[in-house]
Amino acid sequence: MLKIENLHAEVDGKPILKGLSLEVAAGEVHAIMGPNGAGKSTLSYVLGGRPGYEVTGGSVTFSERDGTSIDLLALDPHERAAAGLFLGFQYPVEIPGVSNVQFLREALNAQRAARGEEPLSGGDFLKLAKEKAGLLRMDMDMLKRQVNVGFSGGEKKRAEMVQMGILAPQFAVLDETDSGLDIDALRVVGEGINTIMRAPDKGVLLITHYQRLLDVVKPDRVSILAAGRIVQTGGPELAQRLEDEGYDAVMAEAAA
Ligand code: ADP
Ligand code: MG
Repeated sequence: MLKIENLHAEVDGKPILKGLSLEVAAGEVHAIMGPNGAGKSTLSYVLGGRPGYEVTGGSVTFSERDGTSIDLLALDPHERAAAGLFLGFQYPVEIPGVSNVQFLREALNAQRAARGEEPLSGGDFLKLAKEKAGLLRMDMDMLKRQVNVGFSGGEKKRAEMVQMGILAPQFAVLDETDSGLDIDALRVVGEGINTIMRAPDKGVLLITHYQRLLDVVKPDRVSILAAGRIVQTGGPELAQRLEDEGYDAVMAEAAA
């Protein structure tokens, strides 16, 4: 449902993605691992359409809810979101002055409007928010606070997963959603990802450094991103080998 072909992208004139190809089928969780500075966050920003990340070659095709294929790169960020793409940031931003509840309701209703659906009423929205917050063991009081302001690293990540639950995307790109989580929060977030995104018509690109998240969200495929390209793809055992042997050993073998 997401097909990336020979993608090249640069930031400030510096090439970062250098011919990256990757395919995620519907129903799949595809984990991306790779050394620091490899271009993992850049890939997620390029998919989301963040300004300043310039695509200089290649294509990204995305299958919409109704099955039609669209050129993702031709869309503005809000159109990508309305088409069903969700981006979970490595570093979630704080939005002072805006409560989570306001923010999430606006975001959901904007997406519903783009799909030609009626806005959700305040009551219905709160019911939905309560259900999704409960899934992530997040208290409603936290959702009434300003977006991410004063949240711990782990709370920001959980708030993002509540957002994902409410928006119910077709495809999620999750950038190091496990960073900053303690063991218990990691399990809650991992199970949240499974509940929200494990479905035959959905897909996930899960960027992570750690096997411990993959123990909960069991990936169907694992790819290594290094120096702006996918250098190896395998099954879940590849993640375990990386954990045991490190990138250098596994990549040296791939190059041999
Ligand atoms: P990863 O998420 O895999 O650790 P990133 O995608 O964040 O890697 O970064 C890839 C490379 O792009 C790094 O060398 C980083 O320094 C560089 N980079 C990222 N953003 C910018 C920027 N705004 N200006 C210049 N270089 C950048
Ligand atoms: Mg990163």
